Amino acid sequence: MTTRPILAIINTNALKNNFKIIKNIAFKSKIWSVLKSNAYGHGIKNIFPILKKSDGFAVLTLEEAIILRENGCNKPILLLEGFFSKKDLYFIYKYYLTITIHNKWQIKTLIKYKSYYPLNIYIKINSGMNRLGFLPKNINNIINIIKNNINVYKITLMTHFADASKNSHFVYKQLNIIKKNIFNYNNFTCSFANSAATLWHPYTHYDWIRIGIILYGASPTGDWKDISKKKIQPVMTLKSKIISIQKVSSGDTIGYNCKYSVNTKRKIGIVACGYADGYPRNITSKTFVFIKGIKTKILGNICMDVLAVDLKNIPTAQIGNSVELWGNNIKIDNVAKSANTIGYELMCSLSPRVPRLLK
Ligand SMILES: *Cc1c(COP(=O)(O)O)cnc(C)c1O
Repeated sequence: MTTRPILAIINTNALKNNFKIIKNIAFKSKIWSVLKSNAYGHGIKNIFPILKKSDGFAVLTLEEAIILRENGCNKPILLLEGFFSKKDLYFIYKYYLTITIHNKWQIKTLIKYKSYYPLNIYIKINSGMNRLGFLPKNINNIINIIKNNINVYKITLMTHFADASKNSHFVYKQLNIIKKNIFNYNNFTCSFANSAATLWHPYTHYDWIRIGIILYGASPTGDWKDISKKKIQPVMTLKSKIISIQKVSSGDTIGYNCKYSVNTKRKIGIVACGYADGYPRNITSKTFVFIKGIKTKILGNICMDVLAVDLKNIPTAQIGNSVELWGNNIKIDNVAKSANTIGYELMCSLSPRVPRLLK
């Protein structure tokens, strides 16, 4: 049941469209659809059945993998950071998961584990991101340690790019260090590309790409204009309604800290959406919403449960009118930019109290 008007509408066709575009771009590769962080806020249970054509799903936590299995997912599932404690391995075996191995402790723990079948293993290479993984010069040795272990079936090489934007040279640097250091690297299955590399660096596609943000219809760079010509569509529309209208005159102020001062008589709309819903509070004064076909500005500070919008140019607006906070008309990338962040963060920060509705 939903009581407040705020709603995140998940557009099934947009998601399928985005998947298809990626499939055409990386037609030789298999696709891990990345569903971590509740499918970037879209709802993991909603999303995975729509992405039927994925070759597998990548998640962060065991809990997410178990949700997928318990909801009937029988595709490969990749745990992007592997396991965090030895007892996780019990569930990894129980649910047939593929694991990333990125540190020494995981290797030691895995090779000593008493199991009943071998697992597919992704070896994470730190090729320059300097976050997780083994240095390229140590990979040959690691492969030798694990390749004949009874817990290890197929080994895949995995890395992650620090900057795969269109004009980045760092991608070449990261690839070259892998090529230079890993003996016979071409004989291995490889999974290197995220959304950005998939879009802008086709020579990184290899066997499996791992795509997140682009599926959901926002730009890996945070700039909508970088993907606006690719026919990618926003999947989520965050919508709410005007729940109050105030008439204000010159000299009045709006909301907390009297941040916005009114200079002409006008109506303002109060919208049921606040920072407790995940709308960012630190936006600049040039942030827009979409009402009755018109883009209009947010005024003053965002409150916990509501925000105020200018109705100067929408004189017929009334209580109950629909308001788009982000979606097709207001790109999440632009709201994010205004809040000094990226679409990823806004999607993941959408509060559990906002219902997700599949359309
Ligand atoms: C999150 C993640 C991805 C997906 O990244 P996008 O930029 O959203 O495509 C790919 N690989 C790894 C290891 C990740 O953690």
